[in-house]
Amino acid sequence: MRLMIRLLLLFGIAAMAQTKPLIAIGGIVHETNTFNPKKTGLPEFEMGIGGADGILRGAELIEKSAKANNTTAGFIYGASMHGLQLYPTIIAGPQTLGTVLDSAFETLTGELVDRLRNAPKLDGILLFLHGTMVTESHPHADAEVVRRVRMALGDQIPIVVVHDFHANISEEIVKLTTALLTYKECPHLDARDAGVHAARIMAGIVSGKVKPTQALVKPPMLFNILYHNTYAPPLQPITDESKKLEKQPNVLAASVAGGYQYADIPAMGPGVVVVTDNDPALAKREAERLGGMLWGLRSQLALKAPGAADAVRMAMTNGAWPVALMDAGDNIGGGSAGDSTFILAELLKQKAEGWAMTIADPAAVQSAIRAGVGGAFDMPVGGKTDNMHGDSVRVKGRVKGIYDGRFVEPAVRHGGGRYWDMGVSAVIEVEGSTPDMPNYLLLTPKRIIPFSLHQLISVGIYPERMKILVAKGTIAPRAAYEPVAAKIIEVDSGGVTAVNPARFAYRHIRPGLFGVN
Ligand SMILES: [Zn+2]
Repeated sequence: MRLMIRLLLLFGIAAMAQTKPLIAIGGIVHETNTFNPKKTGLPEFEMGIGGADGILRGAELIEKSAKANNTTAGFIYGASMHGLQLYPTIIAGPQTLGTVLDSAFETLTGELVDRLRNAPKLDGILLFLHGTMVTESHPHADAEVVRRVRMALGDQIPIVVVHDFHANISEEIVKLTTALLTYKECPHLDARDAGVHAARIMAGIVSGKVKPTQALVKPPMLFNILYHNTYAPPLQPITDESKKLEKQPNVLAASVAGGYQYADIPAMGPGVVVVTDNDPALAKREAERLGGMLWGLRSQLALKAPGAADAVRMAMTNGAWPVALMDAGDNIGGGSAGDSTFILAELLKQKAEGWAMTIADPAAVQSAIRAGVGGAFDMPVGGKTDNMHGDSVRVKGRVKGIYDGRFVEPAVRHGGGRYWDMGVSAVIEVEGSTPDMPNYLLLTPKRIIPFSLHQLISVGIYPERMKILVAKGTIAPRAAYEPVAAKIIEVDSGGVTAVNPARFAYRHIRPGLFGVN
């Protein structure tokens, strides 16, 4: 009831005395790894990642997002800045896993469309769509969402879409949207900025000040995720160029998306979208120029990353610590199992000292809880989800602590999440630890994206005191780990998100793409 009253206060009264344009916000946000055997149903959407988001609807969508640093927060802030009134519908995700089941897609898209249809008269729609959602029936499912929204609300309503940086942008969605932009940065520290930017473009459209035209250019390449760091060369100069371009008066947005190599679909690969104010020739010319810059980087994109054994050896002998190992094959943010053991096995085998690593293993957490704080722990850990992330590894040690798993990330980190919930988790002090040089294995009941050092700090692990930190990701964890790490090593570990495309059998991508083999 209280929520109803607040909803009325927020939207009802404002709607009665409506002078501001009414803009709906909504989205289905899924990064689909088509090589991942774990399909995505409705429960996986509801679960969210690491307790972040899940599915938010109506007033709750505004309440829970306003304080975050994500795209929805950007929509909210941008709307208030530019005199737009928001009508929240549903935002499902972010989630990242295997192909989305048709049933989940139909349910969520159906609800989004119903909520839009039942809204008071809308002046525009801001959609947050990841840009690489694949369902059983739709290889470009983001475009399918927009197509259905258009079918329900007509060709004339302005639709501005924000994609993640890892979007495989399709021609279809560029045709269906009024304007499309992506995050510029990876790690994604500008998720909120992109939302604000989209709201600004929407305000321009509904006030009749701008008339967007857009062009997409997709160079014939796979741009390896290993090179997706936009804060360093080779990609940084192109990102900078896109920012410079947006300062031109006629350019509304210029996006360089890195693409997502784990979706086996025709649109796989990087893309450039330039949105201009009623100047299609300029949009095309500038998109081609930035696309040409991406293509021109080919000679700098050779895949060079050590395997797990070499990476651990390099970390142990580095001389300055901590060294952060990016377990790229088990990139949770990219949809992997979160229980890969390739690096754990090497840490134990090579008797590394002073390391901290996280593994998602609900059975191991239960075993630690049964043993209790201070109790002995001895069981096979990890490698239990599928056959792509190594074998279970026997871990012996002592339960250092059991934690409720909640933590808050106050700073802007990749994706902008703030409130996190790992679930009740356990820290094992692994055999071979000394008081000065402990080895810590954090066991979580679900896979948690390593976007925040508070994940470790909240369970009594001080990252700067460790020698080796292992993060299950490729680029995204850098925003959290770079401030403390003496060195970061991306590891060519096996797994569903391995950085080496030669480990995968592609069947649906455009033929002859650079960087696939
Ligand atoms: Zn991303």
